[in-house]
Amino acid sequence: MLNVVIFGAPGSGKGTQSERIVEKFGINHISTGDVLRAEIKNGTELGKTAKGYIDQGQLIPDELMIDILASVFDSFKDSKGVIFDGFPRTIAQAGALKQMLADRGQAVSVMLDLDVPEEELMTRLIKRGQESGRADDNEETIKKRLLVYHSQTAPLIDWYKNEGVYKHIQGLGTMDGIFADICKAIENV
Ligand code: ATP
Ligand code: MG
Repeated sequence: MLNVVIFGAPGSGKGTQSERIVEKFGINHISTGDVLRAEIKNGTELGKTAKGYIDQGQLIPDELMIDILASVFDSFKDSKGVIFDGFPRTIAQAGALKQMLADRGQAVSVMLDLDVPEEELMTRLIKRGQESGRADDNEETIKKRLLVYHSQTAPLIDWYKNEGVYKHIQGLGTMDGIFADICKAIENV
């Protein structure tokens, strides 16, 4: 199986590039953000819990996210591979993903780090908030999410370098250009 982790700060383009990867490589997509937003929309208990954290720009607790991830992963049958979008976001989640995959005879094939400067992230997210009305895309919450990214998520860069699967992707440029770099990285695994 081709197991791709797509990584980057909020607004780095994980969702956009994931859709293209899914189409080209025929793999399944797990977006933890999309899963949580669907739960919120459906008014489930999980959605209510998640909303409290998301509106504050905080992460949902690891134990909850790890359970969700495993159940979505196991719902894919005869999968050629999976793209993990928005997971892992903490060292604990990265360790849990490694264990979950190992239990199934699998491993992360490549981790793509979409690298985008902070000013550009701010601009993109504020624009997305205006266009989509996504509740956490407002200036105050974006600032909190970026702080959370730097403190809890960015340490995964060194973690994955240590695993030997890290790939830096220049996340500034045209969507086609970025996608071409991503394809090269995936084809090289
Ligand atoms: P991008 O714009 O690159 O797609 P994003 O950070 O804007 O990324 P999502 O990945 O959609 O957005 O996540 C939205 C929110 O959902 C996060 O701020 C967080 O509160 C919650 N969330 C998503 N994934 C996780 C996770 N793995 N662990 C904890 N919380 C999560
Ligand atoms: Mg997203």
